[in-house]
Amino acid sequence: KLFNELQDLKGNIRVYCRIRPFLPGQTGKQSVVENISENGQLVIANPSKPGKDGQRSFKFNKVFGPDATQGEVFSDIKPFVQSVVDGYNVCIFAYGQTGSGKTYTMTGPDGATEEEWGINYHALNNLFRISQSRRKHILYEVGVQMVEIYNEQVRDLLSSDVIFVFLNPHTLGITTISQPSGLAVPDASMHPVISTSDVLDLMDIGFKNRAVGATALNARSSRSHSVVTVHVRGKDLKTGAVLYGNLHLVDLAGSERVDKSEVTGDRLREAQHINKSLSSLGDVIFALAQKSPHVPYRNSKLTQVLQSSLGGQAKTLMLVQLNPDASSYSETMSTLKFAERVS
Ligand code: ADP
Ligand code: MG
Repeated sequence: KLFNELQDLKGNIRVYCRIRPFLPGQTGKQSVVENISENGQLVIANPSKPGKDGQRSFKFNKVFGPDATQGEVFSDIKPFVQSVVDGYNVCIFAYGQTGSGKTYTMTGPDGATEEEWGINYHALNNLFRISQSRRKHILYEVGVQMVEIYNEQVRDLLSSDVIFVFLNPHTLGITTISQPSGLAVPDASMHPVISTSDVLDLMDIGFKNRAVGATALNARSSRSHSVVTVHVRGKDLKTGAVLYGNLHLVDLAGSERVDKSEVTGDRLREAQHINKSLSSLGDVIFALAQKSPHVPYRNSKLTQVLQSSLGGQAKTLMLVQLNPDASSYSETMSTLKFAERVS
């Protein structure tokens, strides 16, 4: 049903908001969340302006509060993922400041149990389940790519020269699955996968490789975008017709503003690149939402990589991540303003 609803949306763009809980040990903290309604309304209170005057309301397609489980979040995302096997291109990305739960939502915590799986794992698991159930009629091939975009450079997280964990050559040879040209991330290796465990192995490798390239592990991962691309090609066994869909799963760099007066050198350059790519993404989605004839994809590597799943028939889901802590109020407001522009 959600899928049908999606067709009616302007530009097929949906925006969900997720507020992470306070973490264990964060006791006695003040939350900026005043109210969450079933219909997707979120009211935020300015901690230094008590009362109605300090409140602002934002509207989303859906708001997940701090108690929402990974499974609950995925159940509202499932129709997007399922449309990929029907030949649609889909982009799901998490936006928010560092520490707001982007990685938790997209991937899950380190060493996640199935219950804690993020969207990445659920999505692939779901794709395999559907392809299994249709195997008498349609033969599906699934391939995965994983890249990091850092300072406008795209780095393959699964290329043979960075993979340090041995891949089972029977299931995970580095080859290319057949696909229409122009849709894959150029020069990034494509890995055919046939089961959820293949995917779990691959993503583990990718995320480890992401860390390996980092000088300061967490710092780097919050300043680069990671993009998992899932290519699905289905061949109808009776008619021979082929359909192709892809899914981009994106954990964006932290959206926090860095104080230009305090940073210099590499850190400033990083900040400028992040700013540029996030604002380019915002511009693209804004243009799509406005049905503008010109969509500025060429302004950043991020929007170039995601182009096939932004616009046209593609479906886009933005997950706006918030840290409820009063001390994050101004970052929270700037995240919400970004979301407001595109929704
Ligand atoms: P980001 O990727 O945006 O920097 P993380 O996903 O790393 O943020 O989240 C920051 C911390 O909050 C992590 O310790 C993470 O496990 C925890 N966290 C985030 N969201 C949730 C959630 N919904 N439930 C429980 N813990 C969460
Ligand atoms: Mg993260």
